[in-house]
Amino acid sequence: MTRIDDLPIRDELRGKSPYGAPQLDVPVRLNTNENPYPLPEPLVARIAERVAEAARHLNRYPDRDAVELRTELAAYLTRTAGHEVTKANVWAANGSNEVLQQLLQTFGGPGRTALGFEPSYSMHALISRGTGTGWLSGPRRDDFTIDVDAAVAAIAEHRPDVLFICTPNNPTGTAVDPATVLRLYDAAQAAKPSLVVLDEAYGEFSHHPSPLPLIEGRPNLVVSRTMSKAFGAAGLRLGYLAADPAVVDAVQLVRLPYHLSAVTQATALAALEHTDTLLGYVEQLKAERDRIVTELRAMGCEVTDSDANFVQFGRFPDSHAAWQAILDHGVLVRDNGVPGWLRVTAGTPQENDAFLDAVRAIRKENN
Ligand code: PMP
Repeated sequence: MTRIDDLPIRDELRGKSPYGAPQLDVPVRLNTNENPYPLPEPLVARIAERVAEAARHLNRYPDRDAVELRTELAAYLTRTAGHEVTKANVWAANGSNEVLQQLLQTFGGPGRTALGFEPSYSMHALISRGTGTGWLSGPRRDDFTIDVDAAVAAIAEHRPDVLFICTPNNPTGTAVDPATVLRLYDAAQAAKPSLVVLDEAYGEFSHHPSPLPLIEGRPNLVVSRTMSKAFGAAGLRLGYLAADPAVVDAVQLVRLPYHLSAVTQATALAALEHTDTLLGYVEQLKAERDRIVTELRAMGCEVTDSDANFVQFGRFPDSHAAWQAILDHGVLVRDNGVPGWLRVTAGTPQENDAFLDAVRAIRKENN
């Protein structure tokens, strides 16, 4: 049998495994930061309508520049993120992973480097590798906040071409305050002109306002967003960025022509028509997230403050054994490989109860 490594693949891919959380068939799945609420029926009907209309034109390529969608995304950001942007500031792609990939293809690449503060979203390192960009791991404090002085020193030492700031950070839930973003941005620009990417995939779940207004007057600052979490549309694959219009022009140099299908554009537009209902679910999830934090702490668990739709909890002498024990109670959480810690996504109140009961049970079993 031919194995991957028998093929003439790039050296840096040899022996590597693909990204992916286990997709196990268990009653309660709280492991991939999905939104637990299916799209409401009126929205499902509207998607069917808009997709039917798009289907009448599928003999043609889609709108290559996704103008209507970018206009509506800009209106959504203007309304919810405290800063006026237009379609010239916004670019969309198949999930924010593709947005990040396009950014790295444009601003990273062979001979260039990207730096992130770990533990963080592991795809930052993997997309860097996939685009031939060298990866550099910057520090976090023991409480998972960014130590600004240490971070500034790492930036000065490595002079990265791309700097990732994940806020709220996956898997820890930690938000980065605007003053810290600005110090890191300034440090990055002082080292060399470089792109600073604020990965705000979980922005809507934060207790704090979006850092989006910071893009004003900072052409090298990009905010990356997604409809996978707050819009409950992980299956849609729609991510977007907001930045100076020059950044939007620059990513056109690497995007594939017609990368965003007409069906995707129609579905995303339908979802945006139902923003208020979907943001209502976000409010419920934020309350459930806060309840998980409170109840885990009441049980005596250590819990990292969370601004996302998930909670990092511990600490376990053997986090993989704890992951398995929770799974044995029918609840799938995530072992992100952060020693001592696990991550649970906020689900429905019933799912969260099942999770909390499972943790209570394993703590009893171990005492
Ligand atoms: N950024 C972060 C921090 C994430 O956690 C995720 C999804 N897990 C993404 C980006 C990518 O999401 P998507 O491609 O679904 O937009």
